[in-house]
Amino acid sequence: MNEELKSLVELQKLDVQAYELRAQVEKQKKSLTGASSRQKEAQAALDDLVREHAGKQAFLHQLEARHAEEQDKARKWEKRLNDLKKSAEFAALQRELDGVRITMEEISAEMKATRERLEEIVPEIEAARARLEEAGQAVSTEQSGLDQGVRDLEIKLAAFTAGSEALRKKVSQEMLRNYDFIRTRIKGGVAIVPLVNKRCAGCSMNISPLLYNRVVKGATTERCPSCQRFIYLPEDAPPA
Ligand SMILES: [Zn+2]
Repeated sequence: MNEELKSLVELQKLDVQAYELRAQVEKQKKSLTGASSRQKEAQAALDDLVREHAGKQAFLHQLEARHAEEQDKARKWEKRLNDLKKSAEFAALQRELDGVRITMEEISAEMKATRERLEEIVPEIEAARARLEEAGQAVSTEQSGLDQGVRDLEIKLAAFTAGSEALRKKVSQEMLRNYDFIRTRIKGGVAIVPLVNKRCAGCSMNISPLLYNRVVKGATTERCPSCQRFIYLPEDAPPA
């Protein structure tokens, strides 16, 4: 294998590692997005409960006011009933009073149900607050992990960049153009591959004996006729 190809193989090793590092950071960023959407959900759930609590509380106050009104009415009529003798008016008032008492019972039942729900909501709000706090902690843990990850990545990438710049100087402009073109076309893919059992390791195509012999000689730079990747014979390849 000629020196230029060797440099290209080394360059690719660095580029592939750098690509994998970037992919790792992307993955971390996505998991952070997951954590922060869980945080948003927890916040929304808490808001719903707080809103329900306020609504029920206001409703209970209305019920209490209505109950008090009906109670006033009932007291007034009870008093008038006492003043009246047995008469048609007495019977009518008695019916009215019964109606008021039924309404009061209905309101009382509704008040009881509302109070019960209010009692339930309080621990639900506490639990929702705890979940929100947990979600918030997950976000900050992941955020600091991500920050650290990005810092580590930047240090490693700087080393890769220095290494790859040095290697790129050893490779012709034309080869670099082809190399970069193939690598951008195939996401995270490779542009220079070894021959394995006389096949291109990139696309598994058989290589013709003529081309294989040229690769073995190593004097020229050869490419796979099928996938256009640069091909080389690994140093430790068994003799053909
Ligand atoms: Zn190929």
